Amino acid sequence: MVSDSTFKLTYATMFNPPEELHTKYEEALAKLKTGFGKEYGMIINGEEVFAEEKVENRSPADTDVVLGVFQKGTVQHAHAALKAARAAARGWAHTPWQERVAIVRKAASIMDRRIFEMGAVLSLEVGKNRMEGLGDVAETADLMRYACDRMEANNGFVAEMGRDPLTGYVSTNYSVLKPYGVWLVISPFNFPGALTGGPTGSALVAGNTVVIKPATDTPWTARLITECLLEAGIPAGVVNYVTGPGSTLGQALIESPEVDGITFTGSYDVGMKIFRDFAQGPWVRPTILELGGKNPTIVSRNADLETAAIGILRSAFGLQGQKCSAGSRVYIEEPVYDRLVARLVELTKALKIGDPTARENFLGPVVNKGSYRDYQGFVQEIKEAGKILTGGEVLTEGDYARGYFCAPTLAELPFTHRLWKHEMFVPITTVGKVSDLETAMKYANDVDYGLTAGFYGTEEEARWFFDNIEAGVTYANRPNGATTGAWPGFQPFGGWKGSGSSGKNGGGLYYVQLYMHEQIQNLVRRA
Ligand code: NAP
Ligand code: MG
Repeated sequence: MVSDSTFKLTYATMFNPPEELHTKYEEALAKLKTGFGKEYGMIINGEEVFAEEKVENRSPADTDVVLGVFQKGTVQHAHAALKAARAAARGWAHTPWQERVAIVRKAASIMDRRIFEMGAVLSLEVGKNRMEGLGDVAETADLMRYACDRMEANNGFVAEMGRDPLTGYVSTNYSVLKPYGVWLVISPFNFPGALTGGPTGSALVAGNTVVIKPATDTPWTARLITECLLEAGIPAGVVNYVTGPGSTLGQALIESPEVDGITFTGSYDVGMKIFRDFAQGPWVRPTILELGGKNPTIVSRNADLETAAIGILRSAFGLQGQKCSAGSRVYIEEPVYDRLVARLVELTKALKIGDPTARENFLGPVVNKGSYRDYQGFVQEIKEAGKILTGGEVLTEGDYARGYFCAPTLAELPFTHRLWKHEMFVPITTVGKVSDLETAMKYANDVDYGLTAGFYGTEEEARWFFDNIEAGVTYANRPNGATTGAWPGFQPFGGWKGSGSSGKNGGGLYYVQLYMHEQIQNLVRRA
C-alpha cells in the first residue's frame, strides 16, 4: 500500500513502520506548512461555495497556528447542498453499479497516493500522532474498497429467487437492492477520515447521493476526502460538502424532508437527539447511529501480564483517549492487580507527549478547549473520590504552553463512582480490583454502552468472555490494543446497546446493504 513496499499499514502494524514512511510524511508536512492559513470553500454541486462568516481551524497543539480558514455555512447552504444531491440522485442511482464501484475504487487509490499529505493534515487538525494520522487515511481507503468488494461479491445485490409454481405460467422473481436517494453523513472530530469516507463510500457505491457535514473541529480532512471523490470522477452534486455548526447547519440538514437516510457518528447525546428529530418526518427513514463507548478490559489472574499491560496502555492513551473504542476502564483479578498496575504506571510515565507530527510522540493534545477543561474537571472529581496513580495534570510549560496537552492518567475510583460509566473522552483510564471474573463481567456489562471490550487470560476464559460480554467488537490477548485497532475486513466495527443502532458493523459483511432498500420484481408470462 505504501508505494512499492510490501508494508501494509493498519492500526495493528503501526508500531513498527518502515523508515520510508517517516521521510515521506515529513516531506508532506513541510509542504503543508507553506500553505497554512489558506481559505477553503464548501463544495456544493461541484462548485466552491463561500459563506459570509468564516471559522479559523487552529492547531490544538499550538493555538497560535491557523491551519486554514473554513466556511461557517448556514441553513441556506444546508438546503442548497440537499437540493444538489436530490437533483443528482436519479442519474447516480441509474448508473450501473459496476461503474459506481470503479469510481469509488479510484477514489480510494487517490487516497493511497495522497496518504502522507492527508495523514499529516489529520495530525495537524485532530492532534493524531503520525501513525494514527496515516492509519485513518489508510482505513478510509480500505473501508471504501471493502464496500466495493461486497457489491461485487453479491453481484450488485441482484439475486434470482425461486420461481413460484403457477400452473400455465412462468413466474420469475428477482430481489434487487436499490439506493434510498439522498444520504446525509455527519461525522465526529476523532476519525474525520474513516467516519466521513467510510459511510460516504458505502452510500455512494449503493447508489445514493451524499451530503457530508464534518465536525467543526475537523473540516480539512473531510474536504480532502471530497476532493479525492471528485477527482475520481464522481459527478457534480453526487457528493457535496458543507461546513458549519451542528446546532444550526447540522440541525437544518436533520430537519429537512430531502434527506432519505442518515449516518451519524458522534456522541450518544447528539445522536439520540438526531434520532428523535429525524423521526418527525412522515415515514421512518434509515438512521445509522454510531455512538459512544465505555470500553472495559478484563484481566484474569492467568493472563500474560506484559501483553495485557501493553495492550491496555495503547488503548487507554492512543489518540489521547479520544477513540470511541478507547479502553477507559480496567477490571483486574486481585492476585495480579498490584503487579499489573505497577507495570501500567511505569509504562504510562514513559509515554512521550508533545507535537503530534513529531516522530517520537505517542500522545498529542486533546482536540479543543472544551476537552481540555473536561479533563481538568474529571481530575478534580477523581481526586475527591479516589486516587490518581499517575498523570492528573495539564502540561503548560515551554512547548506545551499554547496547546491542549493533558498528561495520560491512571486512577482508582470506588466502583460506585459515576465516572466508571461516563464516557470521558480524554486520556484518563480507571483501574479496579475484582475478586473474580464473574464480578468483572457484571461491572463490564453494567453500562448503557456496548462498543468494544478486551480480555486477557486463558483461551478457555476467553471463550467465556466472548459468550458473556455485551459488545460489538471483542478482543482477547491482543498486544496491539486491548479494545482498539479494528480494521475493515478483519474486525468490522460497530456497537450494541447505546453504542449503535444498526447491529451491523462497518467494514463488514452486512454493512453496505444498510444503504439500500429491497425491491422484489415478480414477472409473470404465459407458459
Ligand atoms: P459530537 O459532539 O456528537 O458531534 C458529532 C457531529 O455531530 C459533529 O459533526 C457535530 O457538529 C454534529 N452535530 C452536533 N449537533 C448537531 C445537531 N443538532 N444536528 C446535526 N449535527 C450535529 O461528537 P464529537 O465530539 O465530534 O465526537 C466524539 C463522539 O463520537 C464520542 O462520543 C465518540 O465515542 C463518538 N464516536 C463514535 C464512533 C463509533 O463508531 N461508534 C466513532 C467515533 C466517535 P459540530 O462539530 O459542528 O458540533
Ligand atoms: Mg464535539
